[in-house]
Amino acid sequence: MTETETIAYDVVVLGAGPVGENVADRTRAAGLSTAVVESELVGGECSYWACMPSKALLRPVIARADARRVPGLAQAVQGPLDAAAVLAHRNDYTSHWQDDGQVRWLESVGADLHRGHGRLTGPRTVTVTGPDGVRRVLTARHAVAVCTGSRAQLPGLPGLAEVRPWTSREATSAQHVPGRLVVVGGGVVATEMATVWQALGSRVTVLVRGKGLLNRMEPFAGELVAEALTEAGADVRTGTSVESVSRVDGTLVVVTDRGDRIEADEILFATGRAPRTDDIGLETVGLEPGSWLEVDDSLRVTGTDWLYAVGDVNHRALLTHQGKYQARIAGAAIATRASGEPLDEAEPWGAHAATADHHAVPQVVFTDPEAAAVGLSLAEAEQAGYRVRAVDVELSSVAGAGLYADGYKGRARMVVDVEGEILRGVTFVGPGVGELIHSATVAVAGQVPVDRLWHAVPAYPTISEVWLRLLEAYRG
Ligand SMILES: Cc1cc2nc3c(=O)[nH]c(=O)nc-3n(C[C@H](O)[C@H](O)[C@H](O)COP(=O)(O)OP(=O)(O)OC[C@H]3O[C@@H](n4cnc5c(N)ncnc54)[C@H](O)[C@@H]3O)c2cc1C
Repeated sequence: MTETETIAYDVVVLGAGPVGENVADRTRAAGLSTAVVESELVGGECSYWACMPSKALLRPVIARADARRVPGLAQAVQGPLDAAAVLAHRNDYTSHWQDDGQVRWLESVGADLHRGHGRLTGPRTVTVTGPDGVRRVLTARHAVAVCTGSRAQLPGLPGLAEVRPWTSREATSAQHVPGRLVVVGGGVVATEMATVWQALGSRVTVLVRGKGLLNRMEPFAGELVAEALTEAGADVRTGTSVESVSRVDGTLVVVTDRGDRIEADEILFATGRAPRTDDIGLETVGLEPGSWLEVDDSLRVTGTDWLYAVGDVNHRALLTHQGKYQARIAGAAIATRASGEPLDEAEPWGAHAATADHHAVPQVVFTDPEAAAVGLSLAEAEQAGYRVRAVDVELSSVAGAGLYADGYKGRARMVVDVEGEILRGVTFVGPGVGELIHSATVAVAGQVPVDRLWHAVPAYPTISEVWLRLLEAYRG
C-alpha cells in the first residue's frame, strides 16, 4: 500500500447513502469544498437494499390487494402476481445495482467522490483506501460527517453463517422466489418482507419472540397486520424464538424454543440493526468502535467540535426521511459554524436543531393493511410523563373508507395531551393510510391546538374525514 497524496477540504463526508448525499448537498450549497467517501454504491442501503427495492416489491402486492376489495374489479385480479415481472420491476428500480445516476448527481452539486473504505486517522482526518489499495489522506478544515449507516444484526446462533441466512439485503435483492421462507422478527422489515414473499408465492412462517408484530406502534397495528398476514396464508407464531438452524441436503431445518421443527428453503433474520462504526477509526479520536454515535441536536458528536454523526449511525430514528432531515440541519450547522455566525437552536423551531427527532417522527409500514404513525404511542406518551387521553375510531365509520374498499377494515388513534390540548401522537392502520400520515405529522410537529384542528376541514368523501370522527370522539 502506498500513501499517494493529501487533499484538503472544508468538509469530509464518510458514507454516500441518502444522508451523506444530503449533507454534501448542503455544505456545497454553502460554498464549502466537500469530499464524499463511499466504499460500496453511492445511494447507500436505501437505494439498493432497503427502501427502494422493498417498496418496488410491495407496490404490486398492495395494488392487487386494494383492487381485490373493489366491486367490479375484484374478479379481474384473482390470479397470482407475475413474480418474474415484479422482480424485474424491482431490478429496474434499483438501477440494477449500478450507481452511475447518483454519481452524476453528486458531481452536479460539485462534491468530490472518493471510492474506497474511509477511516478516521486522527482529528479532522480521514484516510481512504481505494479499491486498488492506494491510500489518500483527506483533511477537513471544518467538519467530518460520519454517515456510515447501519447493517443487519444477526443473533449469535451456533453455525448460523454456514446456513447462509438472508438478511434485509438478500430479502430485497433475491432473484428467485423461495418455496418456503421462515422470517425471524416482528418489526418493520420482517412484516414487509413476509408480506412480499407470501404474495409472490412463498409459504411464509413468521417467528416472533414477543407477544406480537410491530411492537413499537400501538398494539392494534400489529394485531391487524398479523390477522391479514394469516388470512393471506402466512403462519405467524408469536412467543417463539429460534433455537437452532441447520441445512440438511440443502433443506433448512429450524428448531424453535417450543420444540417446533420447520423445514424451509430460506430463512430471513430481521432481528435489528447494528451501527457501521466498527472499522472507521473511531479509536483514533477517543471513541468506541462499534458504538452508535451520540450527538447533540445539531448532530455534532458529544465531546467534539468537528465530528458530526448523521442518519442511522446516531440511532435517533433509523429512517431515510429522518436522516435526510438531520442532514439538512447538520449541513446548515456546519456551514453556519464555519462562517462564525451563532447557531439558531431555539426550541422547537430552530433551523439548527433536529427537534422533530424527539417528538414527531413519522413512519409508514407498507404492509396490507398499511400502518402509519407519527409521534408517541399511548404507552410511550404515558411513559414520558404526559397527561394524555387516547381516542380510537374504526375507519369503517368514514364514508371515504367505504368507497376506497369494500368491507374496509382499519383503525385510527389520536393521543391528546390534555394539558396543552395538542396531539402527542397519531396512528392510522388500514388500506391507503400511508398517504394520510403527513396531515398528522403537520398537526404533531406544528403543535396545532385541538380546537384549531376543527377548522382544517377534510374533503368529502376521503378517508381523511377520520379527523372529524377523532375530534368528535375526543369532545365526547
Ligand atoms: C429492508 C429495509 C427497508 C427500509 N425501508 C425504509 C423505508 O421505506 N423508508 C425509510 O424511511 N427508511 C427505510 N429503511 C431505513 C433506511 O434504509 C435507512 O434509514 C437509511 O438507509 C439510512 O441512511 P444512511 O445514509 O444513514 O445510511 P446507509 O443508507 O446505510 O448508507 C451508508 C453508506 O455509507 C457507506 N459506508 C459505510 N462505511 C463506510 C466506510 N468506512 N467508508 C466508506 N463508505 C462507507 C455504505 O457503503 C453506505 O453506502 C429501510 C431499511 C431496511 C433494512
